Amino acid sequence: MKLANLLKGIRLPRPPAAAPPVDLPAPEKVYLPLRQHRGAVAEAKVEPGEQVALGQVVGASEEFESATVQATVSGVVEAIVDTVDPAGQKVPAVVIKNDGADAWAEDSAMGESLTDPAGVKGTRPSHLLRRLREAGLVRAQVEGRPLHVDLSPPMAPQSYLYMTGIPVVRPVDTLIVSAVDADPPVCPNRSCLGQSIQELSVGVAALARISGAKRVILALPSGSDTAAIAAMAGPYEWEIASVSQTSYPFATDNFLVQSLTGREVPTPYGEPKDVGVVLQPMISAMDVGKVLMSGRPVIDRIFSVAGEVKNPQTFRVRLGTPISEVLAAAGGGPSRPGKIIVGGPMMGLAIFDPATPVTRETEGVFVQSAANVVAYADHPCIHCGRCVAACPVNLIPSELGKLCEFRMYEEAAYMDLMNCIECGCCAYVCPAKRPMVHFLRHGKTEVLAGRME
Ligand code: SF4
Ligand code: SF4
Repeated sequence: MKLANLLKGIRLPRPPAAAPPVDLPAPEKVYLPLRQHRGAVAEAKVEPGEQVALGQVVGASEEFESATVQATVSGVVEAIVDTVDPAGQKVPAVVIKNDGADAWAEDSAMGESLTDPAGVKGTRPSHLLRRLREAGLVRAQVEGRPLHVDLSPPMAPQSYLYMTGIPVVRPVDTLIVSAVDADPPVCPNRSCLGQSIQELSVGVAALARISGAKRVILALPSGSDTAAIAAMAGPYEWEIASVSQTSYPFATDNFLVQSLTGREVPTPYGEPKDVGVVLQPMISAMDVGKVLMSGRPVIDRIFSVAGEVKNPQTFRVRLGTPISEVLAAAGGGPSRPGKIIVGGPMMGLAIFDPATPVTRETEGVFVQSAANVVAYADHPCIHCGRCVAACPVNLIPSELGKLCEFRMYEEAAYMDLMNCIECGCCAYVCPAKRPMVHFLRHGKTEVLAGRME
């Protein structure tokens, strides 16, 4: 498939090849936050001192935008403590001391095993969606949505339909499964390329069945062995597209949808579903396949460690493992640590506590030494225009930065501040080292909160 090229944005160095994930032994203790996504906090279903088995439900909520939390080790519930999630929000977490038995709970099975795409195609979409909800799957991105919410049809504003007769919800006809990591060098999706075609085929079949998509596109990073993967994907009639890894932010959702289907996602609040497309990263598709094949919840996460660590590597980690333990397994960080960024160097969020656990919304960390952390300053803009040339959504970041800096949020909103995708290209190219993303992110928060006076 030939792709349209991204004219703006920036060019990043080609990321190194991704090795398959290495299994990390289960930790002595896991910290399971009762919210690992955007939405409602689950209610704890266990008490301190209680013995729990693998896969046992430890937190659940009746709210639609919530995900069930299961034990990822067997052992004793030590406490329920407050922890901070990668987005910086305080959230209660169940702490379980691992007894090493790894015994599954008797009631952890979630229906019959579906081991081939034909079986999935013969199963009702509502049944598949219910199983994903029971498994508590979440799209792997900070403040990602539970997968059952991501895959449910958008709420149609019925009154609008009644008044205008215009069907505002376009039926989904295309599913994109992307193995291209949006923020390289954090690379969980590339690492699991070619890992288990059976899990992937069952996962993709389920995603297509639930969404109603007839067309399936597998987006692969350029340079991968597309011929081998095309041969592998042949029986399932997936289209294969090769996507650049150096052209940033080409692999983020809206650009990928536009280049692969020619459909423009409406901004600022639109999503691919609005133009009939469902897009999921490859690790989500593999998680779906795993849940349906095993009939059990997923207890681990493919987690990538990149940047200044001794051995950058991707691991298969039990959910709830402190990030500091994963960093130690990667050989440890620099002697003078600077930042640990969850997500990736361009769009990720820095965490202040390395004991923050690996959760369903995390896909990896990027580590920087103190020497390499960019020192932003409140230097004035020198009007070089580099940020304007780089902004992939055609904003004027220099003006928006100044308006947000001086709290002129209404004027910034008028200049399409809310269209900013927080890609970081403007900060990356700015010679004055202005903290552009901080200004813009803060401005967007103020606009959303209605504080525009
Ligand atoms: S203004 Fe927003 S979208 Fe444009 S380059 Fe900066 S961060 Fe990216
Ligand atoms: S890149 Fe920096 S200095 Fe140049 S115009 Fe943009 S904000 Fe101003």
